[in-house]
Amino acid sequence: MQQALVLEKKGVLSLREIDLPTQVRPGDVKIEIDTVGVCGSDVHYYTHGAIGPYVLREPMVLGHEAAGTVVQVGADVKGLKVGDRVCMEPGVPNLSSRASKLGLYNVDPDVRFWATPPIHGVLTPYVVHPAAFTYRLPDNVSFAEGAMVEPFAIGMQAATRARIQPGDVGAVIGAGPIGIMVALAALAGGCARVFISDLSADKLKIAGQYPGIIPVDVTERPFAEVIAEKTGGWGADVVFEASGSSRAFKGMFDLVRPGGAFVLVGLPVEPVEFDVAGAISKEVRIETVFRYANIFDRALELIASGKVDLKPLITGTFGFRDSIKAFERAAAGHASDVKLQIKVKE
Ligand SMILES: [Zn+2]
Repeated sequence: MQQALVLEKKGVLSLREIDLPTQVRPGDVKIEIDTVGVCGSDVHYYTHGAIGPYVLREPMVLGHEAAGTVVQVGADVKGLKVGDRVCMEPGVPNLSSRASKLGLYNVDPDVRFWATPPIHGVLTPYVVHPAAFTYRLPDNVSFAEGAMVEPFAIGMQAATRARIQPGDVGAVIGAGPIGIMVALAALAGGCARVFISDLSADKLKIAGQYPGIIPVDVTERPFAEVIAEKTGGWGADVVFEASGSSRAFKGMFDLVRPGGAFVLVGLPVEPVEFDVAGAISKEVRIETVFRYANIFDRALELIASGKVDLKPLITGTFGFRDSIKAFERAAAGHASDVKLQIKVKE
């Protein structure tokens, strides 16, 4: 038994003892958790008890954005040792699956992902995880930054899917945590400048502190009008939908240039309509992003190089004992909060 932040059912959290797997198999490492980020999906399970087909049916430990220290290694583990500071990829696929063999292990139907029912997450002091999905942190990357790799990996996957070319102009709809991660990854991936839109002045201010990211307040002017003006009427080369709002789909292809790419990152709660003719008439390439595959190493390279600084996005840190407070704060949805983290190791 160990302490953990348990989502008992929709709306009910408790910090209590729970039985979690402790067996370290030959390919596993045991990690002492240091820091865990609070993710929108964790908060959504807390407030709604479900995300699409994933429904909470029994108590589940939350948390999937984590960093910590290796305290035990399985007999077959190479490349990691006790004392290594690491972050972990929360989805573990079946490595013999057809999807894994294709390198698309993120869409393996058998993937087991932390804090996605019925799999427990990692808001708890120790976790056992396959070494293959555990990544050593460079010395200049803190645990707090290590716990940011997971959400940043989604931005990196989006930038990868976009097939950015050096000098592209990017546009991101939505300046929430994922929108900002996407914009940073698009810049790191070669975009010369990235416009980002939102309704919230607070969120835009946070996004706009980064050189190269240009905030656009859509309560003042339509995003498409600004993009047209700034690109001589041509449109952005790569556009990312990171709001999940059905409203974003109206006129979405006005943002993108002929032959450009439109990358869907945000998850609308309901089916949405979109303008097929608008896409076809520009031969827009549409891409989708589900989590990430083969991204963590690159994300760590970028963070360690100093080319991507995620530290300003960590806007609050709570002690493990205050985990429930952290979730209440996150559920309240303050526009000035980007990423709240929980320091599990006290
Ligand atoms: Zn997350």
